[in-house]
Amino acid sequence: MTTHKPLLIIVSSPSGAGKTTLCKRLLAEFSDIRFSISHTTRVPRPNEVDGRDYIFTDKATFDKMVDEEQFVEWAHVHGNRYGTSLGEIRSAAAQRVDLIFDVDYQGARQIKSNYPDAVGIFILPPSIDELKLRLNARGTETPESLERRFKAALGEIAHYDEFDYLLVNDNVDHAYDRLRSILLAERIRIARSSDAARKLLE
Ligand code: 5GP
Repeated sequence: MTTHKPLLIIVSSPSGAGKTTLCKRLLAEFSDIRFSISHTTRVPRPNEVDGRDYIFTDKATFDKMVDEEQFVEWAHVHGNRYGTSLGEIRSAAAQRVDLIFDVDYQGARQIKSNYPDAVGIFILPPSIDELKLRLNARGTETPESLERRFKAALGEIAHYDEFDYLLVNDNVDHAYDRLRSILLAERIRIARSSDAARKLLE
């Protein structure tokens, strides 16, 4: 059996752009895609499950993994550390599935430099007003924390041009259609699907 080279799909966005909803839909529709579970030193939120949302890791373990070069990429994001382990990519290859990464622009940059075939998708909110609304969706932000989250979002958006695709999430159904189109098209790139032609020519 040929070895499986997973398609690596990086999805980044500022918070409040609807990335999680879109990724969940993709995972629900395609059983041959898996979500890359990152390690993080951040504490779990009430609804999060260790091993499902993240692998929650203490700082010493994270340091050890960095020293042992177990990460494909890692970065400081909002005061915590987050990293993608090499094990995630290896197990996707073994399970013959593709992988979707929810990482920030620093992680996207590192994955792309290690795996130039990786596909980077950046999701944008439709407007500044809508972004502000979504950042304050819970209605519990103070003006200062809202301003901080807004600045962080703009800082993330500034890196849009490091990605291959830009997806404006103006309507979740339309954005999802475009996201799945990217997946379907990337899967049939000649570089990834030439086996079918080679077999015919044999
Ligand atoms: P949250 O703490 O809200 O789950 O995530 C905060 C930010 O960290 C998000 O922008 C998310 O994309 C990013 N992030 C999550 N996992 C990783 C990772 O493994 N590497 C990097 N570089 N960023 C990550």
